[in-house]
Amino acid sequence: MRMYDIIQKKRDGAKLTDDEIRFFVSGFVSGDIPDYQASALLMAICIRGLDDEETLSLTYAMARSGETADLSALYPVADKHSTGGVADSTTLIAAPLAASCGLNVAKMSGRGLGHTGGTLDKLESIPGMNVSLTLDRFISQIKAVGVAITGQTMSLCPADKKLYALRDVTATVESIPLIASSIMSKKIAAGADVIILDVKTGNGAFMQSYEDAKKLADLMVRIGNGAGKKTAAVISDMSQPLGTAIGNSLEVIEAIEILQCKKEGDLLTVALELSKGMLFLSGKAKSESEAQNMLREALFSGRALDKFAQMIAAQGGDPKVVSDTSLMPRARHTKVIKSEKRGYLGGVDCRRLGAAAGILGAGRQRIGDRIDPASGIVVIKRIGDEVEAGEPLCELHSGAKEKIDEAEKMVLDSLAITPHAEKPTLILSKTY
Ligand code: URA
Repeated sequence: MRMYDIIQKKRDGAKLTDDEIRFFVSGFVSGDIPDYQASALLMAICIRGLDDEETLSLTYAMARSGETADLSALYPVADKHSTGGVADSTTLIAAPLAASCGLNVAKMSGRGLGHTGGTLDKLESIPGMNVSLTLDRFISQIKAVGVAITGQTMSLCPADKKLYALRDVTATVESIPLIASSIMSKKIAAGADVIILDVKTGNGAFMQSYEDAKKLADLMVRIGNGAGKKTAAVISDMSQPLGTAIGNSLEVIEAIEILQCKKEGDLLTVALELSKGMLFLSGKAKSESEAQNMLREALFSGRALDKFAQMIAAQGGDPKVVSDTSLMPRARHTKVIKSEKRGYLGGVDCRRLGAAAGILGAGRQRIGDRIDPASGIVVIKRIGDEVEAGEPLCELHSGAKEKIDEAEKMVLDSLAITPHAEKPTLILSKTY
């Protein structure tokens, strides 16, 4: 078999066999197939697509590219995954919340992808935090603490580790089969019994239309249920940043403030919805309202915050950050962006805002680029809010002043001030 022929076949719109897909995945992981050939195939898949059978082959080849976790002794175990958003740190809230209600949570996450943030980069902004756990350590931490979050490693889902990094820098993210196989291979390898998917739609999401988000959700739910896991999806709005903070350390700080019950809003609403789904589908709660009550109690009693601290400590991080966020990295330079006119925040170009956070230092342009954990944007206004001329709209954070100058116009252009505005609906649908 030759990689050249596989690329050519997909370029011309033909269907790949299971053998060809497995040849590609194993050759890419072993290093026999170089990045340039893998990139060419990824682009061909982006343009030509994969049918359900090919997507299933790719998902399983990726899931089996390394070890897979056997969590049967910890049953039931839950996992959640977002298809990618801006200011979406729901994992940092939902995982400790569900775990503090007695549910085991085993989560395999990713890094920033395109204009979106990644849980691993966010967690790594916590001093000392290790997000590359071995399989043994992953399992023993779930046993001891009830929750662990790891990244793909060269032993856990290495195919996604390598493909994900390549897609991030080759404009090959926006593809239903590539997103579905990336997410579901991680979910299958990480071994949970219950999977809740948060599928984003809107201009800040990889799936801009509700119809595409639904196609992606339905495909992933089919793959998850077919793998014997109870899988459900929530489709939620990404026409504006979900939280107020975009950027790694800023997002961890916001998640901590929510777990400290100092802050509410859309980010908490979605995190509660996803944790509710995990408790309900796993049978830890008999109904959605019971799940809601359990979660509120865990949040307001401080147990969820304690669980987050325990998880950080178990992964080598400094757990004191949960009571003292001044221990988190902070940017040297900040600048407040003010509205030039009066009106309402009528719309946000969320993708552009995510890209601006990347320019400030929060994202990568090339594989292996170092990110600046403290950089990013705090968005003060939400769609539908009234705005006075001269009122602050957002705040830019960066370690380099010239990056603030570069991002400033982009940020201002991404916020539309209009005479009228309507708040978007946050949770559009769910399958549980
Ligand atoms: N999250 C993933 O893990 N993979 C994708 O492709 C998109 C979002």
